[in-house]
Amino acid sequence: MSWEEKEILLVVKTYPERSKKYGNTVCTAGILKDSNTWVRIYPINFNSYNAKPLKKFVFFKAQIKKNTKEMLRRKESFKIRDSTIEITNKDLVDPKKKGVWDKRRNILIKTLSDSVEILKKKANEDRTSLGLIKPKIDSVKFRLKKPIEKIDIDIAESIQINLFGEKLKKVDKIENIFYYSFNCYGENCSGHNMICTDWELLESFRKWRNQYINPVHLEEKLKERYEDWMKNRDLYFILGTHNRFNTWFIIGLFYPPKRKDLSLNAFLK
Ligand SMILES: [Zn+2]
Repeated sequence: MSWEEKEILLVVKTYPERSKKYGNTVCTAGILKDSNTWVRIYPINFNSYNAKPLKKFVFFKAQIKKNTKEMLRRKESFKIRDSTIEITNKDLVDPKKKGVWDKRRNILIKTLSDSVEILKKKANEDRTSLGLIKPKIDSVKFRLKKPIEKIDIDIAESIQINLFGEKLKKVDKIENIFYYSFNCYGENCSGHNMICTDWELLESFRKWRNQYINPVHLEEKLKERYEDWMKNRDLYFILGTHNRFNTWFIIGLFYPPKRKDLSLNAFLK
């Protein structure tokens, strides 16, 4: 299998994991521009010169190739040559820019699955391991698997040196205990509980735990942003399967503003 240059819209960066070989690695998912299909690129070393400016919703070109070992289980997995990364378009990076959310949604919506059940069926058929679904918004609940004050968090204090002699700050390691319970639009949906590893969520927790010392307030603050606020948006979940277990996670939240035309339709009914 040979390297091929592709243009990709970067959509998801999961919270970094520590890696001995690469420093911090991030699982990255995006959409191939030519085919509107999902790809998982792992690992991208975000400390490398070319990867540093890679923000969410940037278009970039790079040489990628199928990760043949990985693909036996997850068909969208690719390897990347960090040194070939080249940003091609930053128009969709700034969400405050007029029309940006609509443009992002127009691309992502082409990958929308009807339900989690259908996505899981596809996983069995052809090893699909990434997808976009829409939860029924009234059913969405942001939850924690254990009390917030009991979350295991390993603060990074040391600096490590990677293979290339670069100094890297380690990331704080945070236990995955945040999850959403929701129903999708599947005909036979009996509800889902899925761990959420969205970078923004874990980063909020990391920052806010220093600001809100009282665990009750911290939990309220997280719920306010990740449930109440999200329910006033046009919320989608980007789902991916775990690299070892065959379970589905919410790897990213996609939350354009509610569509005015949709609310008008609802009004007319
Ligand atoms: Zn369902």
